[in-house]
Amino acid sequence: MKNPDNLLNYDVIIVGAGISGIGAAYHLKDQCPNKSFIILESLDKYGGTWYTHTYPGIRSDSDLYTFGYRFKPWIGPPIATAEEIQDYLEEVIEDNDIKEHISYNRHVNNAKWDSESSLWTLEVEEKETGEIKEYSSNFLWMCQGYYDHEKGYIPDWEGIENFKGQLIHPQNWTENIDYKDKEVVVIGSGATTATIVPAMAPDCKHITVLQRSPTYFIPGMNQQKVANFLRFFKLKEEWVHSLTRLYILLLQRWFVNKTFKHPEKAKKQLIDGVREYLDPDYDVETHFTPTYRPWRQRIAFVPDGDIFQGIKSGKASMVTDQIDRFEEDGILLKSGEEIKTDFVISATGFNLSLLGNIDFYVDNQKVDFSKKVTYRGMMITDIPNMLWIFGYFRASWTLRVDLMGDFVCRLLKYMDSNGFTSATPFLSDKELKEPLQTWIDEENFNPGYLLRSQHKLPKRIKDSCWQHTQDYWEEKKDIPSIDLAKAPFTYK
Ligand SMILES: Cc1cc2nc3c(=O)[nH]c(=O)nc-3n(C[C@H](O)[C@H](O)[C@H](O)COP(=O)(O)OP(=O)(O)OC[C@H]3O[C@@H](n4cnc5c(N)ncnc54)[C@H](O)[C@@H]3O)c2cc1C
Repeated sequence: MKNPDNLLNYDVIIVGAGISGIGAAYHLKDQCPNKSFIILESLDKYGGTWYTHTYPGIRSDSDLYTFGYRFKPWIGPPIATAEEIQDYLEEVIEDNDIKEHISYNRHVNNAKWDSESSLWTLEVEEKETGEIKEYSSNFLWMCQGYYDHEKGYIPDWEGIENFKGQLIHPQNWTENIDYKDKEVVVIGSGATTATIVPAMAPDCKHITVLQRSPTYFIPGMNQQKVANFLRFFKLKEEWVHSLTRLYILLLQRWFVNKTFKHPEKAKKQLIDGVREYLDPDYDVETHFTPTYRPWRQRIAFVPDGDIFQGIKSGKASMVTDQIDRFEEDGILLKSGEEIKTDFVISATGFNLSLLGNIDFYVDNQKVDFSKKVTYRGMMITDIPNMLWIFGYFRASWTLRVDLMGDFVCRLLKYMDSNGFTSATPFLSDKELKEPLQTWIDEENFNPGYLLRSQHKLPKRIKDSCWQHTQDYWEEKKDIPSIDLAKAPFTYK
């Protein structure tokens, strides 16, 4: 029996105070003002990704007109630093009285649904005291992000234990790390590399990017001409934000379509963009010509082509090869070449964290998510009153925060007006016979952290309502028009 004095009850619990959780809180306050809610956040501050990542140069890799919320104009340059994103979030918290709803240092260990009371009960560790408390709510809105904030992914390289230099994952960067005048190697070729290399290059002796294979980048000015144009005519910031956002989204849609219909043309466009920043005789073929179709992995925007400027100046250089093993003073490559180094940054990606590593139970049965199917990438079969925010890969994550915000609020109102206390996605008998497929089609999108963890994730089936389509434009049309009376939910 639970101790009622120790049970804190709300209509909705939001897990996570990152950009998703704060967006969720805004939508609840705006659209369901009578609902009581709390955000439980494991850390001592809001911001999630933008609080935990502190490596040199940390910045967004997509523009803030689309990464920002639809309701809060972005007025800075499109690519923003972590600090600027945190300031933006702080304004949202202050302007909308969200502060009093956030409880920091509250780590959720497990979540248990009880059908009789239609309640989730969460076991929560209060980190300052170590005390375990129970929080309960009718609806659980999971905004925990997708990766483990504590530890990044470092492959198990041979000889790593013999390396006498420093090896660090960017996620674990601390203020006192000194790389001045060091011979630095950054392993990996994604957005983190594109960020950290230009930021470190001026201070270290030399910086080498060691990549197994090349990646696509979109270099360009860190300015939005459409926004500048609209501001010139003194348009209100709300309009500047909406119109610039629309322009960027349309442009992105056009380009993503091109990558499917005319992949070679899209590839050439991207590679030509990189070539413009490098010397005419630079070996773009080896270092910047990927073999895969563009957008099978996330493409980072490189403001002012800064990583390429570093390469052009000679301060940074590229090596495209594979690691054979680590040695005491460097890295031996498969080609036989050796890179001497005393400082290695392993920009090798994330460890996926499924739903914040929280153990879920429904009526005392532990949930195995890999045996469930996702409803539109937001809810999960047989799990009542729970929605998670899993954003877009080829567009800004946050676009989905606003869409999900509208959906949850509509669902809560629908349930209230019909006297329902729970909504549980279910598969029809016909759908139950469909073969289960992995969360994402590897042909479509295949970043390492997802491929390493597909086995943990819920499945999809053929029908597009039982998968995360990753298609913002379709969802923008489909999700608001879901007829909740006919949706595949069991209501009680
Ligand atoms: C360096 C970097 C740059 C990126 N740039 C972009 C970009 O430009 N555009 C883009 O679209 N995406 C980008 N992404 C992806 C990015 O993570 C998301 O877009 C977005 O910030 C995720 O926000 P979130 O709130 O969903 O999750 P997070 O930012 O991960 O926040 C989740 C929060 O939930 C908390 N939490 C998790 N588990 C628990 C638990 N059990 N109990 C309590 N609290 C918990 C965490 O402490 C954290 O504060 C980037 C990612 C990284 C790492």
